[in-house]
Amino acid sequence: MRVAVTGGGGFLGSHLCEALLRRGDEVVCLDDFSTGDPSNIAAFIGNPAFELVRGDVSQSVDVRGAVDAVAHLASPASPPDYLRRPLETLAVGSRGTENALRLATQHGARFVLASTSEVYGDPEVHPQDETYFGNVNPVGPRSVYDEAKRFAEALTQAYRRNRATNTGIVRIFNTYGPRMRPHDGRVVSSFVVQALTGEPLTIYGDGKQTRSFCYVDDLVRGIVRMLNHDEPGPVNLGNPVELTVLELAGLVLDLTGSRAEIQFHPLPVDDPARRRPVIARASERLGWVPEVGIEEGLRRTIEWFAERPGDITAALAAIRGGQQDGATAPEGRLPITTPATS
Ligand code: NAD
Ligand code: UDP
Repeated sequence: MRVAVTGGGGFLGSHLCEALLRRGDEVVCLDDFSTGDPSNIAAFIGNPAFELVRGDVSQSVDVRGAVDAVAHLASPASPPDYLRRPLETLAVGSRGTENALRLATQHGARFVLASTSEVYGDPEVHPQDETYFGNVNPVGPRSVYDEAKRFAEALTQAYRRNRATNTGIVRIFNTYGPRMRPHDGRVVSSFVVQALTGEPLTIYGDGKQTRSFCYVDDLVRGIVRMLNHDEPGPVNLGNPVELTVLELAGLVLDLTGSRAEIQFHPLPVDDPARRRPVIARASERLGWVPEVGIEEGLRRTIEWFAERPGDITAALAAIRGGQQDGATAPEGRLPITTPATS
């Protein structure tokens, strides 16, 4: 198969490219590296089965030759990233998704949209299955991401109905693992970097909010199953083991042996109180269940970060710089604490 992966230079995208190359596919990676890192795909450069098209998919999606499948992952994903790039996030969810859908439609290719648990917003139904319509604030700061993904889902369904495109939607719940950017501001990368350097772990709110964390290898296996399938979805992909943010902090401290303190910060606006996927649909229709438990996944993630002390030091310097000036920081470097303003 020849697969176009938008966002292939990012955290999830690079693992997906790797899994596809490993099984013998050809991969065309489309990325502008606005939130990704070229080092994620450096190992694939020079592989004749791998091609990199550098550019903004909201402007155009330019792939020459055959395309059998399109995995559309391009979008900022970390809250600090999309809060800093609101218009770009809306553009890639709308125009970027349409460009990727057109590519798939022209080639009669399978199309898979990387949607998100954020379509459920701050859920009033718990746990969340795919029939729940969600509780999203359409004008809050997170709406640029949540509504872009909801629009992307609607567009994907419209192409399925009106253009007969072979589409599938996966709703991805919080995923972690190697190749997260150390300064991306997401909770797992932040806690691991902080624990390894002895900096205080920054807990937003009282830390009683919950998330369900999926290890990257499990998640990518789910996306590959969806690419192989005709299943339209939406299908939740996530690990249903639910933790409070405080429990996660405790686990990271235990596994790193760190004596870092815990520091409480204001809760960002519209931060969902709880989140846990029902994965019956993924299990029944795709034969997919996650296999890597949180302790094992965190161990692998910690090991990966610990092997990169230089990156971590740079990330911490950037985080401190961001906190000092309170808002803006150099490109790709954001304060870990998301401003709690609407
Ligand atoms: P990431 O930021 O590491 O990767 C996104 C990639 O898309 C980056 O390489 C970035 O440079 C690229 N990109 C962004 N806008 C682009 C544009 N306009 N044109 C070309 N490339 C562009 O994030 P990730 O965690 O790997 O997320 C990948 C996808 O999965 C996203 O669509 C995200 O919404 C979705 N998702 C991720 C998670 C998670 O926990 N990681 C959860 C839910 C959904
Ligand atoms: N969070 C935190 N400290 C951090 C980063 C995040 O307490 O340094 C919290 C955040 O407020 C949210 C949860 O951890 O409740 C998950 O945040 P993340 O940004 O990883 O993903 P989200 O699920 O919000 O998209």
